[in-house]
Amino acid sequence: MTELEKRIAAKIPGEDTGIEVKQSFCSICAPGFHCGVDAYIKDGKLIKTEGTLAHPQNHGLLCTKGCSNRSFVYREDRIHTPLKRVGERGEGKFEAISWEEAYDLIAEKLLGIREKYGANSVAFFSGYQKWYRFLLERFAYDFGSINFGTESSCCFTASKMAWMTMTGKMAKADMKNSHLHVAWGGGNHHSRYLNAKAEEELVERGDKLIVVDPRNTPMATRRAALHLRIKPGTDGLLANCIAGIIIKNGWQDMDYI
Ligand code: SF4
Repeated sequence: MTELEKRIAAKIPGEDTGIEVKQSFCSICAPGFHCGVDAYIKDGKLIKTEGTLAHPQNHGLLCTKGCSNRSFVYREDRIHTPLKRVGERGEGKFEAISWEEAYDLIAEKLLGIREKYGANSVAFFSGYQKWYRFLLERFAYDFGSINFGTESSCCFTASKMAWMTMTGKMAKADMKNSHLHVAWGGGNHHSRYLNAKAEEELVERGDKLIVVDPRNTPMATRRAALHLRIKPGTDGLLANCIAGIIIKNGWQDMDYI
């Protein structure tokens, strides 16, 4: 038995407990993650969730959201059916309706708006959860609207588009070959890009770290050679000033530009 098999076997409860462990996955965040979950079931009820040790994505770990899957499934105010507003907007009055009624209502409204104002008058927007996004995107384009957006529109996709527009490719920071690191408004100390360990390594090898952040973060107070504690909302001004000084002194890399 391998070490992993032993650890998996140790998790299986005895027959007399009435507990079964079912393999599932967490769908709270991105499909790229979908961490493997061991769901402990007793009398048809989920009593506990743990990360699946052999899952290639999470190797037995779950984030706090994943550990809270039981509360996610059973929370009392969880919405189980579509709800139709019956009071005035903002009054908070809704009644439960069937999925068929909801589909009919949505179709009637969408088709009516498209006929009156054109397809582009409807914007389709998705929140963070990603598993259904491509279906919504297809629906938006089939409907005829170019207005499809997600939370990524002001997050990863926006930064990707900026990279593509500026440099023609999606670049990744070359941390190993850089000797001056600028952490601009990033919670890097706790992130996977520049976590506390990586931070320590780069300071140990003599690299300099500049932190631009209004907050006194662990990285700013413990590691930064320079902490620019700007007022919130003045990032653009600082960037413009730095660019101005670079251009004034002729320090720009014209080949790169
Ligand atoms: S456990 Fe956390 S990281 Fe993994 S899928 Fe669930 S919410 Fe996402």
